[in-house]
Formats: sequence, structure tokens, C-alpha cells
Amino acid sequence: MLADLLERNRDWSASRQAQEPDYFTRLAALQAPEYFWIGCSDSRVPANVVAGLDPGEVFVHRNVANIVHSSDMNLLSALEFAVDALKVREIIVCGHYGCGGVKAATEDLPHGLVDHWLEPIRRLARAYAVDLRRETDIEGRRDRLDADPATGLGPRGKGACPRIDLRAEGRAPARSRLHHRTGPFQRGGG
Ligand SMILES: [Zn+2]
Repeated sequence: MLADLLERNRDWSASRQAQEPDYFTRLAALQAPEYFWIGCSDSRVPANVVAGLDPGEVFVHRNVANIVHSSDMNLLSALEFAVDALKVREIIVCGHYGCGGVKAATEDLPHGLVDHWLEPIRRLARAYAVDLRRETDIEGRRDRLDADPATGLGPRGKGACPRIDLRAEGRAPARSRLHHRTGPFQRGGG
């Protein structure tokens, strides 16, 4: 199994180099992505693939149900690096249809540790309960919490801050702009 992955990696590397001889030299020299992508860990929604971007074009953080916890040092460290060091121009919090995390958050069943992780989604569902009740079935409610119908990707809930465009504000100081524009950032989106 792992040998197969290594073989695939060798094939991909050779093929990429054949297409663009200086590809790896260029990538190794500089990482300058314009986007910081906060997405779901779901294997079906890799940021590069669904956004049509090459390696080096998007800096990525993923977790179950693309949640932004204000105490998540992993995400906050990545965010700090993206804004301060990489100077990304846009931060995208992106969800998707059929999210297992959203499904788990809307079920009245125990799922283990992830129940703690998913609490912000439950809070969001409670905050928009009146709106969500307009959907007649549970799948419709999950879709409202999940994604944009047009693309299968997108924001979770109204005003959930799916994308932050730093260009409109100028690049610096990005962090203070970020808090100014998004309010309670721990609310999460995607
Ligand atoms: Zn998901």
C-alpha cells in the first residue's frame, strides 16, 4: 500500500518535471500563495483540486467541518503565518455539501471526542433555528449549514464570513483588519 503511494509519487514527480523542467526548483525557492484556505478534512474536497490551483498557490488548513475555534493553536498559528509571513491576500473558510461533520452535529447521537469539536455548528444551528426550520427535511437543513448550492462549496449560514478579502483593506496590518471585519472569528464559517 505505502509502496504504491511512493511509486505514484515518483511517477507524478517525473511527469511534472517533464512538463515543466524548472517546476520543483521554482517551488522550492519561493512560497507565495495569495490564498489561505480553511477547509474540511473530507478527502473529497482538497483545496488545490476543487479551486483549480497548483501547489504553491494556496496555503491550507483543514479540520473536521472546517471550524474556526478561537482556542485552536494549530489554526491560529497557520493563520498568523499566512497573514504575517506569507502575506496572503484572501482568507477563505469553505464548507461543502454532504459534510459528515455537519451531519454528526445535527444528529442526536454520541460520536465521541468530535462532539466537543462540533459544538460551534450546534450553536450556529440554534442561532439560525427559525431560518433552518423553513427547510422541510433534515438534508435541506444540513445543506443550509453546509454549502452554496451552485458549487457544492461555500459559506455556512448567513453572515458566517466565508471569505475575507484583504485587498480592499490594504495588506497591513492584516490581523487587526481581520478582527475588525469578521467580528467574533471563532464563530466559524465554511
Ligand atoms: Zn466536511
